[in-house]
Amino acid sequence: MTSATVKFGEKEGEISFSEVNSVDFMGLYLDFYVQNPVEAVPKECFPNLKKLISMAAAYLPLMPPDWSFAWNVSMPLQKRRLFCCVDSEYNVFVARTHSWNPSPFEKNPRMTVQMVSGVSGMESTTTVDCGENVPSDKILNTLFTKFFAEESQNGLEIYENGETFGIRDTLPEDFDEKDEQIKEVELKFKCGCTKSKIADIFTRMSKKDVDFLFETESVLSIECPRCGQKYRIKKDDLR
Ligand SMILES: [Zn+2]
Repeated sequence: MTSATVKFGEKEGEISFSEVNSVDFMGLYLDFYVQNPVEAVPKECFPNLKKLISMAAAYLPLMPPDWSFAWNVSMPLQKRRLFCCVDSEYNVFVARTHSWNPSPFEKNPRMTVQMVSGVSGMESTTTVDCGENVPSDKILNTLFTKFFAEESQNGLEIYENGETFGIRDTLPEDFDEKDEQIKEVELKFKCGCTKSKIADIFTRMSKKDVDFLFETESVLSIECPRCGQKYRIKKDDLR
């Protein structure tokens, strides 16, 4: 199971820090085999996706409990889009990346953060841009910094911790540590695979190969390469 643990301190309902403890990303490697049977996610894309997920995880404790949120990042130079959405009610996250052809007007990396309240139905969208020539490994840092500046989240600071991001409170500590409660939230990765998406993997194969596979077995057991869920596929299930 792909999951991330978020640790945060809370005193009288106020968040004092938030930190991503561990993030396991084996699931990212085969993303596109399920989403789109033609393309695999290029390796150079993993670091940024990892950072985006860690940031979404670190941001979770700062959100009111019934709000869910999604981070969309477009990177024109890399011709890629990254996406991470967190459902705060069920503590699940979905993360994707896909190739994308920017129009000539879309030159700058851009991040759009959408937030939706499950209770009131309220919505908010914030968009931030960064310069055209920002190197790939600095794009997310720049966008997050701008986002926090625009949201005027005073006292909160983002930091890079190896391959992931966290958020910390920079305001002076004027309370007893013992009054502070440490909370942990575990976010679970939601794959989004379905039987029909798994069956689509066969569209990459020639009819001859498919016939061969079903020659001796009437039902094949296929594991989702991303989350390990098993599906039983019959020849009739293939389009
Ligand atoms: Zn799956």
